[in-house]
Amino acid sequence: QAKQTKRGSFTLYSQDMSETLKQRLEMENALRDALQHGHLTVYFQPQCNVQNGHVTGAEALVRWLDPDKGLIPPSDFIRLAEETGLIEQIGELVLRQTCELGTEWRARNLPALKLSVNISPYQLRFVNLVDMTRRILAETGFTAEWLELEMTESALMEREQEVIPQLVALQEMGISIAIDDFGTGYSSLAYLKNFPLDTLKIDRSFLEGIPANRDSRQLTQTIISLGHNLNYKIVAEGVETQAQLDFLKQLGCDTYQGYLKSPPLPVQAFMKLIDPQQQRA
Ligand code: C2E
Ligand code: MG
Ligand code: MG
Ligand code: MG
Repeated sequence: QAKQTKRGSFTLYSQDMSETLKQRLEMENALRDALQHGHLTVYFQPQCNVQNGHVTGAEALVRWLDPDKGLIPPSDFIRLAEETGLIEQIGELVLRQTCELGTEWRARNLPALKLSVNISPYQLRFVNLVDMTRRILAETGFTAEWLELEMTESALMEREQEVIPQLVALQEMGISIAIDDFGTGYSSLAYLKNFPLDTLKIDRSFLEGIPANRDSRQLTQTIISLGHNLNYKIVAEGVETQAQLDFLKQLGCDTYQGYLKSPPLPVQAFMKLIDPQQQRA
């Protein structure tokens, strides 16, 4: 009896496994397809000056627009893209689209914006990020000074010796480097001094506790003041309420990003948000 149950559950388990494997393969093929057919695109979320609310930049966030399934968020495919190496093409596509738009906006005399692009740990490790970025800047005519690359703490820490020269080279080109999701890894601010960084993005989990949670308030305050001592620009991620923004204002945080101002938007909608003429119309 026991044996039967065991065998029964084993069969079920292995069916689950092959089902998972099958889904994974289907997803991988679908992602390759999406890349080929131009179904991957970039949305932009505004970043604003905390004190006066002006839009000073935007983060580029990849979206998969499937004709059948609709909009697929990066949380559903970035990891697969990293595991399959497809992130190399995706990363290049996102950077190219972002730089192309940046060049177009500048030509139309729209307010100058710092455009920020997420870089995967895979790109730091297996792709020549410096050459790729230099090539895309040349191809699109975008200005390095208006480009920022975001990397997570763990991506930097894991391979310090290989990463630092890449960051130095990118900064020498004029590109800014931001550390993303700060506070979620193991790093300390003291350790960060080893890396050439310009911007520190406070993870949105800290903002969630503001204003109610005392620890969140104190941690946020500490990150901002230590970060400023190290001369970083501080961006707060995931700002959803006016109370959170008021708190950041008191602490002298530089920039904020979050649903309070706007979710990530498709290009046309984003343009409408930032173009003073379209706003008046
Ligand atoms: P991230 O770089 O930390 O991006 C911020 C995420 O927070 C975005 O999710 C954004 O939509 C979301 N967000 C912004 N404001 C708020 C808010 O007020 N409340 C809440 N709850 N969420 C907010 P998204 O676009 O789904 O991206 C998730 C993650 O996927 C990104 O986190 C980034 O790690 C990764 N990702 C996105 N685009 C790319 C890309 O082009 N390349 C790579 N390598 N990773 C990307
Ligand atoms: Mg980011
Ligand atoms: Mg983040
Ligand atoms: Mg993240």
